[in-house]
Amino acid sequence: MTTETRDIVVVGGGTAGCFAAATAAQDGLDVVLLERKSEEDGGHIACGDAIKGKSTFPDVIDREYLREESFTNENIQRAHFINPKGDNYDIPFEGESGAVVDRKRYGEVLLEEAERAGADIHFDTVVQDVTQNGRVTGVEGIREGDYVEYEADIVIDAAGALSLLQDKVDFAGTNYDTNVDYSQFCSAYREVIETEQPVEYDDAIVFKPTEELGYLWYFPRTDREINAGLGFQMDQPPMPLVDVLKKDLQNQPEFRNAEVKDKLGAALPTRRPYDSAVAPGFMSVGDAAGHVNPTTGGGIPGAAKAGHWAAEIAAEAIADGDLSESALWEYNRRVQTDFGKRFAAMDLYNIFGTAHEVDELTDVVTALPGQMLIDLMGKKGETTLGVLDKLKTGLVTAFETRGHWNVLYEGYQVSNLASELKSIYDEYPTTPSEFEAWQAKRDELMDEVYEITGAEPKY
Ligand SMILES: Cc1cc2nc3c(=O)[nH]c(=O)nc-3n(C[C@H](O)[C@H](O)[C@H](O)COP(=O)(O)OP(=O)(O)OC[C@H]3O[C@@H](n4cnc5c(N)ncnc54)[C@H](O)[C@@H]3O)c2cc1C
Repeated sequence: MTTETRDIVVVGGGTAGCFAAATAAQDGLDVVLLERKSEEDGGHIACGDAIKGKSTFPDVIDREYLREESFTNENIQRAHFINPKGDNYDIPFEGESGAVVDRKRYGEVLLEEAERAGADIHFDTVVQDVTQNGRVTGVEGIREGDYVEYEADIVIDAAGALSLLQDKVDFAGTNYDTNVDYSQFCSAYREVIETEQPVEYDDAIVFKPTEELGYLWYFPRTDREINAGLGFQMDQPPMPLVDVLKKDLQNQPEFRNAEVKDKLGAALPTRRPYDSAVAPGFMSVGDAAGHVNPTTGGGIPGAAKAGHWAAEIAAEAIADGDLSESALWEYNRRVQTDFGKRFAAMDLYNIFGTAHEVDELTDVVTALPGQMLIDLMGKKGETTLGVLDKLKTGLVTAFETRGHWNVLYEGYQVSNLASELKSIYDEYPTTPSEFEAWQAKRDELMDEVYEITGAEPKY
């Protein structure tokens, strides 16, 4: 057995872990990143690969290098929605165009950049447990077949959705969010497909609603390499993802004789960010803390920011010699008052969606993904305005089909509550002592959402 001692141990070499490790190393801390995959496999992650552009990322890595190496399509100008019940339509992106990346290369570059910043990277290291004595003091696991232990001032949990570390930490006496259930996640699957002929929509990301409250997408990495995927909410009946995708592709002429280059599935959180993601000596970032837009599944920008902020706050706490929950709390506040409030507001539409039949929603708001996409590509698609637009588009459909005005009105009410919710998140407490009162206020608003929509409480 070997024991290593570091300032910070980061578990997980995805977007969140790499940004945490790069930031901590740049701050002069002794940091190791532990990744269960081999070096060869590092960066291989299930993703749709769509992002807003290089400005998505904190400036602690060489963003230009990342762009040159992995941004295979930087010309995404519009979101194209296929409406099974009516006309297809486009939402153009104003300002910055979006990008689709080669996800493997993107992941490799992030790992390279974390290492270049000064972090050690230990591949083939599977973390199995945490060590703790009132605070988390490190992790233990297996590295290349041998038992290893890492001691650290702070462990950053960047181990992705349903992180194993959270099953191991004793959160008693802390405010860490343990109100987490598989039904708040989405099961997703994607294939990277090479077509014989160029597709016409290489300037668009394409969406199509599916049953089971999900959507199917085609994101063109190039005009002949398409990332096609789909997902469903785990509180809905399971969908045979591989078969549904296969059937859909068979019906698309551009995928005739196409070759599948890669396939991968994963769970991703489609819930609000964890109310608190810190405990003494412990911080969760990215998917491990629900930092994903719950309507689009876009999690790369949140993971990058969260990793960066967590490491900044961890560095301050270490310098002050205070590793308590209070010392790490500012990280929660940064998340919640930034993208956290927006994701919490978007979550209300998920809740609204689960309370209705798919058919009814398709009739009324086939436009829902419009907002999703605008968000995914990072445009300032603020909830209220976006949803009003969406509802307007839905209104046309509803007018044609009639009988769904109550759903529209509900949507309108939810949209108002989403704005209110963001204001509550703006007032996220600066210390743990005010947290309970804040939660009570937020939960009061959630009760109203459940009452209006008739949805089962999600939390
Ligand atoms: C099908 C699909 C499509 C998506 N499409 C998009 C998209 O188009 N745009 C977008 O922005 N987001 C998208 N997302 C979400 C995005 O991929 C995630 O939000 C993002 O990758 C989260 O990064 P992360 O670093 O938190 O976690 P991850 O990228 O999951 O990284 C976690 C890492 O931890 C490692 N790990 C886990 N457990 C251990 C352990 N015990 N020991 C050691 N290492 C461990 C894993 O091997 C992994 O490398 C999609 C997700 C899915 C599943």
